[in-house]
This record gives sequence, structure tokens and C-alpha cells, in this order.
Amino acid sequence: MARRKSERALIRDIARQRMEILYEMASKLFEELPELAQRYIDLIRKISMKCRVRIPRHIKRRICKHCGTFLVPGVNCRVRLRTNRYPHITITCFNCKRQIRYPYKVNRVKKRS
Ligand SMILES: [Zn+2]
Repeated sequence: MARRKSERALIRDIARQRMEILYEMASKLFEELPELAQRYIDLIRKISMKCRVRIPRHIKRRICKHCGTFLVPGVNCRVRLRTNRYPHITITCFNCKRQIRYPYKVNRVKKRS
């Protein structure tokens, strides 16, 4: 039993490493070969599903939740900070025209002594 457990941990580790590598390559390649970069992003999603490993947060935020597009700010998505109701980041995907919202916490300004 213990062996199986460590095997699973190993698979998860490798999956995470692969996702990091693919993400790095996708970011580098995007300008020259956007199709290939997109393919790497698709691979990240596949790895995550097959190995049942979460996509690291910094990578997940660069992938459209709705259509799976690799989001590059200023190129195929718009990033805006909004504070109505609660502080959040709105990312508009230009591919599917839908929005993704991520809340963020505001660091309260420290009281002056
Ligand atoms: Zn989209």
C-alpha cells in the first residue's frame, strides 16, 4: 500500500513539472508560433485531467476557463481591476468574448501612529 501511495506522489510530481515546462515553452513561443503555444496549453489541461493534478495557480490564470485559450494580456485578453461589490480582476477573453473574475484581497493601509 505504501508503495502505491508514493507512486501516486511521484506521478503528481512529474505531472506538475511537465506543466511548468510546457507553460514556460508556451510563453516563449507565443509570439512566433501561437498555434504551437496553444497546443502546449492544451497538453497542460490534458495532463491535469489525466493525472488528476491541479494546474498550478499562476498557469491556470493564463488559460481561459471557458474556451481554453492561452491568455496573453494585451494580445488576446483584457485585464482590468474592478472594485464594485468586491475587489476583483476581470479578464476578458477575446476568443470567446467571455469574462473570468478572480477576487483579490486589498491590503488595508496601516494606521499611522
Ligand atoms: Zn475564452
